Parts: sequence; C-alpha cells; structure tokens
Amino acid sequence: MKPLPTVGEPVRRLAIIGAGSSGLITLKFAIEQLPGWQVVCFEKSDRVTGVWGNPYRGFVSTSTRYTTQFCCFPEWDATVAADGGRSRGEFFRDGDYGDYLNRFADAFDLRRHVRFGHQVVSVAGADRDGWDVTVRPTRAEGGGMTERFDAVVICTGLTAAMKPVETSIPTLSIHDMNRGDGTCGIRGERIVVFGGGESGVDHATRLADPCLGNTVFLSLRTGIRVSPRYHPIHGVPSDFLRNRLLLSIHPGLRNAIGQRFVEARMLHQERFERWFPAAARAETAEDPRTVASRKAWAYRLTKAAKDDLFNMFHNKSDDFLTAVARGQVTIVGPPVDSSLQRFHGFDSSEVIDVRPTRVVPAIGYRSTLTAIGGESLCVRDFHRGCVHARRPGLYLVGFARPIIGNIPSISEVQAAFVVGMIGGRVSRPADIAARHEALERENDRRFATLDREIIHPVEMFPYCDALAKEMHRVPSLGGFGSIRAWWRAQLAPATTAHYWNDDPRIRRFFAAAPVFMPAVLVALLLALKPIDGVYRLRRRCRRPRAVA
Ligand SMILES: Cc1cc2nc3c(=O)[nH]c(=O)nc-3n(C[C@H](O)[C@H](O)[C@H](O)COP(=O)(O)OP(=O)(O)OC[C@H]3O[C@@H](n4cnc5c(N)ncnc54)[C@H](O)[C@@H]3O)c2cc1C
Repeated sequence: MKPLPTVGEPVRRLAIIGAGSSGLITLKFAIEQLPGWQVVCFEKSDRVTGVWGNPYRGFVSTSTRYTTQFCCFPEWDATVAADGGRSRGEFFRDGDYGDYLNRFADAFDLRRHVRFGHQVVSVAGADRDGWDVTVRPTRAEGGGMTERFDAVVICTGLTAAMKPVETSIPTLSIHDMNRGDGTCGIRGERIVVFGGGESGVDHATRLADPCLGNTVFLSLRTGIRVSPRYHPIHGVPSDFLRNRLLLSIHPGLRNAIGQRFVEARMLHQERFERWFPAAARAETAEDPRTVASRKAWAYRLTKAAKDDLFNMFHNKSDDFLTAVARGQVTIVGPPVDSSLQRFHGFDSSEVIDVRPTRVVPAIGYRSTLTAIGGESLCVRDFHRGCVHARRPGLYLVGFARPIIGNIPSISEVQAAFVVGMIGGRVSRPADIAARHEALERENDRRFATLDREIIHPVEMFPYCDALAKEMHRVPSLGGFGSIRAWWRAQLAPATTAHYWNDDPRIRRFFAAAPVFMPAVLVALLLALKPIDGVYRLRRRCRRPRAVA
C-alpha cells in the first residue's frame, strides 16, 4: 500500500473525464490505489451508464456478459443456456449493462466522487506541470470554471459521436436509433444505411422489419468480416471458443490458418454442426434457399474484405445475414456521386437506382478528444493508446478498439495500468517516445486501412498482455497455483481475469469456467506449436536483416 502524504505535502489532484464504463473503472482503481490524491470525475450527463447503458428495447450485446464484465466485479459465469441461443441468455439484453454499471457504482460507492451535469470543455497543459481543466455545468449558461489538476484521464468514449454523411436527405442519428424500439417509428421509407460495422447492420436489420414496410439498403465500400454470434462448434457463443492456447499462436500464422478455417466453417456449416453437436440448437423453419443465400452472402462479404482476418474489425451481429438472405436488406456498394441517388452494386459494375428518403450514417466515429483538447490532441499520440508519449500526466482509457473482443474489460486493464503509472507503481518508460514510434510504425503496417487518429485498434489479448507485462501481471504458471489450473486456463474462454490471479476471489470465480474447445482442435493447436516456434524463430532471424 502507498504511504499517505505527510503533513504539509500538497494534495495531488486527478481529474477523470466521463463516467461511462471506462470512467467508472478508472475511478474505482483511483480511489482505492491513490491514497492522498483528490479524485474528481466529471460527467456531463446525470447517469453512470455511458452510451451503451440505456439502449433500445430488444437490444442484445455482441460480446458476452462473461467476457465483458469487470473482473473485479464478476456476476456471470460462462454457462451456456440450453435453448440453442433463442434467449440470447449469455449476452446483455435491453438495459442489463446499464443496470450492471449502476450496481458497480453502488458497490464501490463511486457516485460521491462524480460531479454530474458537468461538461469538460477544455483540457490544456498548464505552464508548470499539471493541467488546466475547464468545466461548465451542462444545464447553465455562461462560461466555465478552470481547475488545476496534476493528472487527467480522458474517458469520453470512442463511439459517442458518429461521423456525419454530407447530404440534404433527412438523416437518422445514432441517438435516434438507440431510443424506444430503435426504429424511430420510420415506416414506408426508402432508407440507406452506410457502414458495415455492428451498429450499421443492426440499424439496417431493425429498419427492415417487414411490419414497417421500409425498403432498406446497406451501403458497403468493401467486404466485412462477419463472425457468428453462436459458433457452429457446439453452438456456443464464439467468445467462448477463443482461448489462450489459440491466442498463443503467432498472429501471422493465425491470420493465414484462421482465414482458411473461417471459409471452411462458412461453406460446411452443417458438417461442423454434425461433428461438434450442441446441447441444443434453435430449430430453423427457414426456407433452404434462404439458408443457402445466407451462407453465400457470409462467404462473399468475407472474401471481399480488404484486410487479413485479424487485422480488421469483426462483426458479430450476424442476424442481418438472414435479413439479407430473405431480401429484406439489399447490399449495395458506395454511392455513385454526392447526390446519393444511385449506388454501385456490391463488388459489381452495375448501377442501382436507390433514391433514398432517409439515410443512416454508421461509417465510424468522430473524435471526442478534439472537443476538449483541440485539433492537436489525437489518440495516435498516446503510447499503447493510453499514455501521452510527450506530455506526462495525460492519459486515455476506453479508446482501444478490439478486432474481436470487448471494450469494457480492456478498459479495466488500461485503468489498472494508467492508475498504476499515476501512483508510481508502473514506471513511465524513459524511452517512451522511441518505443511509441516503433509501435506506431508496426501499427501503421498492420492496421493500414483503419483511422488511427481516433481509435487505437488492437488484438485484445496480445494488447492486454503487453500492458500486463508492464504491470508485472502476466499470468504465470505459479500464479495459477498448479499445472492443472494453468492448463485449464489455457483451454477455457480467454479472460482478462488471469491478470488478477493474486486476488483469490477473482481467481476462484474464473477458475470454474468450462472448456468448450473440442479435444480435436486442442490436439491440432498443440501440433501447430512446433511450427509456431519455427515461424517465430524465422521472423526473429529475418528482422535484423530487414533493418540493415
Ligand atoms: C447500443 C450499444 C451497444 C454496444 N455493445 C457493445 C458490446 O456488446 N461490447 C462492447 O465491447 N462494446 C459495446 N458497445 C460499445 C460501448 O460504447 C463501449 O463498450 C462502452 O460503452 C465504452 O464505455 P466508455 O466509458 O469508454 O464510453 P461511453 O460509454 O461513451 O462513456 C463516456 C462518458 O463520458 C461522458 N462525457 C463525454 N464527453 C464528456 C465531457 N466533455 N465532459 C464530461 N463528460 C463527458 C459521456 O456523457 C459518457 O457518460 C456498445 C455501444 C452501444 C451504443
């Protein structure tokens, strides 16, 4: 435990901006681990649930409750409901996630540190060490008040502000689409949804409900990677098949082998289902032609994706494929011109007359950072997406976007890292600028198609492992207590809980997770390990030559 400041030592001050899931977990660690600091969290709304806490009726999350919950506040185990996925019982539904965050805030008495209804309008480096944070009450007119802080953690979220589409056609915003039943009462319209991310396909599917009588188009620039919410292997959530053994294979090899595996899974879904039976599968009364078309679209979208399997975001809202196969959603390419009247065909040379009466932009997000830090503040300047490489005392939590995975449990690892650095238990590398530059070059190569000014794209577990390494929290054999427990943890669903093995309560809770990966795949991965070893060795040998 850190010593309390001695009499006369000035009290240091930490500002946390935003009280969504990232702000809350940062606040929890800060008040526990920074004795002697005054911690203030500014939240512009009157809630602690962020953008996701209060979604439209019927919402189902894309990441499972088990993997998304904070490890320090576990409520759900990895049980799979025996109803073939009908209830979506392994996922957050409706306002479940908001309820969870409310319970979390109550359990650790966090609200008394939050100044609700206070919007931070600017964060500026003070002349001495420290930061001037200007705050304005949300409901009052007039200028703000400026307070000095020693450190600032920005947790304003990376999905709050959608990029607009320039058009005079009436637009539906993310805010509209997340209210009520999530369709804004839109009926009988011709709608184009732009973007193939989780939000985009979800909006398109809802608006295409036949009761609404809309004609819905989904405009995609390229193919997308669609992962099944429930995997044909044993019919379990895909999250539950990703384990540490699989992740221990080098991403280069995983990209190559994974791509073939995914294609085989799409083309031979029924075989996979036969070979790896599920406790229950949802009966499908679907016309065989619709089933075949769904499969064909999944394959076509994946084949047209412009980057390697683990270098671009995966979309797990796969229900939209059924809407596409039934003809309720038409996939088109980009618009022919800025009038947005005609669109290219998807991956084809035809031109389609669409003439939309509404558009829904879901083509990515605008930075929430520039609103408070000016144009010069961008995610790219933060080492590992959380520590400003040049300005000590400025941090981000919640700006890492996983290729596959979830944001809140990454935020938990980032929050532990950042608070550790503020408290001096994690050191700020002396050569941080050089390290940052090297990592940025690597990311430039790997994530060339993604906008890294506003997001920090990551492969969830390798990224969290890197932070854990700097915190000396890499899950070691000894940390699991026995070889048996360690081996089980390699096979069970991957979780960030393994970084907190020193907490017996967390270790016990997550040690009980079942293993879902079939023995034959475990054997294949083990057989791959020597090849992985050679692959890594060859890459290591090749690196110095490339530099020379
Ligand atoms: C409908 C929906 C479903 C989602 N489903 C998933 C999922 O299944 N899995 C997953 O991993 N992610 C999901 N997400 C993504 C989700 O955004 C993140 O997982 C999570 O909410 C991020 O939390 P955050 O605290 O970083 O950001 P946010 O939730 O955006 O919270 C940011 C907070 O900062 C406050 N704020 C912003 N600017 C200021 C300012 N200037 N001053 C003061 N306060 C400010 C905001 O009011 C807000 O409360 C979903 C998002 C939505 C909208």
